[in-house]
Amino acid sequence: MNDDCLFCRLYRDGEHVASTDGFVAIRDINPQADTHLLVIPERHIASFHDIGELPADEAKRMLDFIADVAARNDLTDYRVVVNAGPGAGQTVFHLHWHVLGGRSIGRMA
Ligand code: AMP
Ligand code: ZN
Repeated sequence: MNDDCLFCRLYRDGEHVASTDGFVAIRDINPQADTHLLVIPERHIASFHDIGELPADEAKRMLDFIADVAARNDLTDYRVVVNAGPGAGQTVFHLHWHVLGGRSIGRMA
């Protein structure tokens, strides 16, 4: 827990649309799609660059949770995005996964 970190604080005190042991999902405050959720681990890891800090079992549970959150929010087709580093648009330095879906999500890459 890092009190200076927005997502550590939102993990503890935020409004969660879903949660499981060690992970929560919140709504993005500035949605870029009809549905735009953020999946946040409890563990403070600054960036995807440091994904090696996440134990393998937690990484698997995080991916399962992402799929579960999407399904429970009626997303059949959706995009999962991680911005790794400021050059890729990362603004909050606590690992998180964007889950974007809804009408016309289309293709990106
Ligand atoms: P990134 O730019 O990939 O680091 O993603 C950070 C995301 O956090 C952005 O999409 C922001 O809109 C979102 N965000 C920032 N502050 C909040 C907040 N208080 N509650 C929910 N989402 C937030
Ligand atoms: Zn944090």
